[in-house]
Amino acid sequence: MRVAVPFGKSKIYTALAYKIHNIPPTAYEAKTIHQILDESPVITSKQLSHWKWIASYYMCSVGEVMRAAMPNAFILESETIISKNESTEIDEQSLKDDEFLIYEALQYQSSLKIQDVVSILDKKRVLPVINNLVEKRVLNLQEELYEKYQPKLVRYIKLHNDYKSEESLQGLLEVLNKRATKQREVLLTLFTLTASSKEPVKVSELVKKSEASSTIIKTLIDKGILEDYHIQTDRVQFEGEGNSRVKILTEAQQVAFDSIKNEFETKSVTLLHGVTSSGKTEIYVQLIKEQLKKGKQVLYLLPEIALTTQLVQRLQDYFGEKVAVFHSRYSGNERVEVWNNMLHNPEKAEIIIGARSSLLLPFKNLGLIIVDEEHEQSYKQFDPAPRYHARDAAVVLANLHGAKTLLGSATPSLESYFNASQGKYGLVELNTRFNNVLMPDIELVDLADKYKRKRMKGHFSDRMIVEMTETLEEGFQIILFQNRRGYSPIIECTTCGHSPQCPSCDVSLTYHQYKNQLRCHYCGYHTAMPKSCEACGNPTLDTKGFGTEQIEEEVKELFPNHNVARMDLDTTRGKYGFEKLITRFEQKEIDVLVGTQMLTKGLDFRHVKLVGILNADNLLNFPDFRAHERSYQLMAQVSGRAGRTDVRGKVLIQTYNPHHNILQQVSVNAYKDMFAEQMNDRYNFKYPPIYRLVKITLKHKDYNRVNTAADWYAKSLKQVFKTNVLGPEFPPISRIRNLYNKNILIKIPPNQSLLKTKEAIRKIDNSFNAVKDFRSVRVILNVDSY
Ligand code: ADP
Ligand code: ZN
Repeated sequence: MRVAVPFGKSKIYTALAYKIHNIPPTAYEAKTIHQILDESPVITSKQLSHWKWIASYYMCSVGEVMRAAMPNAFILESETIISKNESTEIDEQSLKDDEFLIYEALQYQSSLKIQDVVSILDKKRVLPVINNLVEKRVLNLQEELYEKYQPKLVRYIKLHNDYKSEESLQGLLEVLNKRATKQREVLLTLFTLTASSKEPVKVSELVKKSEASSTIIKTLIDKGILEDYHIQTDRVQFEGEGNSRVKILTEAQQVAFDSIKNEFETKSVTLLHGVTSSGKTEIYVQLIKEQLKKGKQVLYLLPEIALTTQLVQRLQDYFGEKVAVFHSRYSGNERVEVWNNMLHNPEKAEIIIGARSSLLLPFKNLGLIIVDEEHEQSYKQFDPAPRYHARDAAVVLANLHGAKTLLGSATPSLESYFNASQGKYGLVELNTRFNNVLMPDIELVDLADKYKRKRMKGHFSDRMIVEMTETLEEGFQIILFQNRRGYSPIIECTTCGHSPQCPSCDVSLTYHQYKNQLRCHYCGYHTAMPKSCEACGNPTLDTKGFGTEQIEEEVKELFPNHNVARMDLDTTRGKYGFEKLITRFEQKEIDVLVGTQMLTKGLDFRHVKLVGILNADNLLNFPDFRAHERSYQLMAQVSGRAGRTDVRGKVLIQTYNPHHNILQQVSVNAYKDMFAEQMNDRYNFKYPPIYRLVKITLKHKDYNRVNTAADWYAKSLKQVFKTNVLGPEFPPISRIRNLYNKNILIKIPPNQSLLKTKEAIRKIDNSFNAVKDFRSVRVILNVDSY
């Protein structure tokens, strides 16, 4: 249960009591709990065990896990309440003007909040005035807790009980008949509404149907003829009918379905490797149905819930009210409702769909966890702690409930495919697309050759333009992929070579043409695009490299008679930004959609025939040991958006390296070759999934401090782990938000105990923190880092 506990002199914090003991503290004097906030527990014991596992595995505190798990609205805020100090005589003459205003207000009101003082004084900085008054002993300050969660109440209306009898009603109507026809009409409308449905009638509905003003309804209430009342409702209500028939599985799907169940007989985790558009979702739906029949809950994990409105709609069509969505863009209140439904209204929480944090919810009896698009890196939380991997934490959660985990992907992570090939996980493959549509035809376009022979218009090769023209003429749609947003990532003066940098980070600023701004993609800094070079003053600024904005502009020039839109972080802000764009594309209001990796996340469009990847090289050249694996996944996924119904899709990949193995493998859908080759590298260079990694990042605003600290840390680690410690090394972007970062990597061989390794790291970390000079250095421990 939650408790409010005093902290320091005046602060009150919300805490969770998870254990009760009788051992008095020795180092300090315990205070009493201020208030117990709940009547029954708000978390379950299995949930707590799971949180503890996460804290111990990912080397953070249980409190940090609690922070990530609990909706913000559960954490009560304390607010300062200002009241008059009754015990002192006040000489009004001694008060300054501002002070007097507050004093005066307290003659009429028993207490004020900070916000009230802001409006009384009509200025933002009110604390100095308040503090002066406290010093003069005019005011008292006190902290009060308030609940942030506000239930949503809907106002309903009914006939007052006095008129329930036939007789009294008849009398009433007669009176109204003569004098108040409008009121009589409202009454008759209410009768029609009550007769046509058993549901209670909302005030808003009555106003609408009777076309009466709310004053008339108020009069009826005042006269005691009608009565209003409130009912608490859910903010999130499902839109699906909940009665759509689930699809009958094809033969291939049925075989896969049976094999999954078969694997679950002996394995607790199974990987479903099914090519894009093979109909994995329909298989999930059948598995969900089975669990519901057994009275079990299902958790459906998605990499990013905001991007999957299509899927949520599909599941709500099948399962209606049983589906609860835990949405990253929901308000605190909406999150509390999902949580409370899981505790108290299980019929509304049989299927939970959500992103990684939904793992931390209070499940009662899980039967199955589905991890869709299990290869997605966004399953790993990067910042702040807990830095957990949702796929791996899902397996642990399922085990706590005696449930099964199904991992699904067209391009599995090396980790999961390796586990499957070792027999640790079950493996089921689905190699045909639904409807037997062929996999798209993938063609590599050699950019070096195209530039040499002058076959390029802007960033479009002649091949791309021909295919685009043909696709649009046939009335199909096009998706173009470029993994950078903005217009161009670098601005350079052609006279002196200067290029504008972010003042707080070591990166060049990206030019955004739409807003005519230079922006930093790491800290959000932005400034107007200068007209001339800041260094030499010459107006000779040129752009280098290209992002989605520039591609959008070029498409508009190449195809002026078609509609082009862009899907990236800049165009999908707001709760429904993404949804609106998807709907417009689905309804063919958009012919060409240009976008970043957002496009790859499991979208199902029916009319896309062509997918273009404008530049594969910046994916492949990314400085990370997973860059090749990721490039394969990204390109295979974005290609998978083409030709999903009956015509075969076409994919064009522009590159300077058409012979690159990854590109060759993508073009013939050779996942297993990719896997074998990449695994070979991982063996040779001691990387996951063979070795485990713990990354330690040190951060400080002072360059020298971070260097000394990192050297000390690495030296201590090397004494224990010898050559399995890499670094310290600056990452490619060494300063972000004015903090210098330095990384140390620990590689853990397969036969080395993870537990003992982490203990040793802890020990070193403790000694580190004991050094006075290092105390201000932030240390981030990232287990299984990405
Ligand atoms: P995946 O998740 O493997 O990419 P989907 O589950 O999205 O594939 O299926 C691709 C398309 O095929 C969807 O539009 C889906 O409605 C359709 N589909 C899949 N299986 C069936 C089926 N058994 N009957 C009818 N349509 C199906
Ligand atoms: Zn910056």
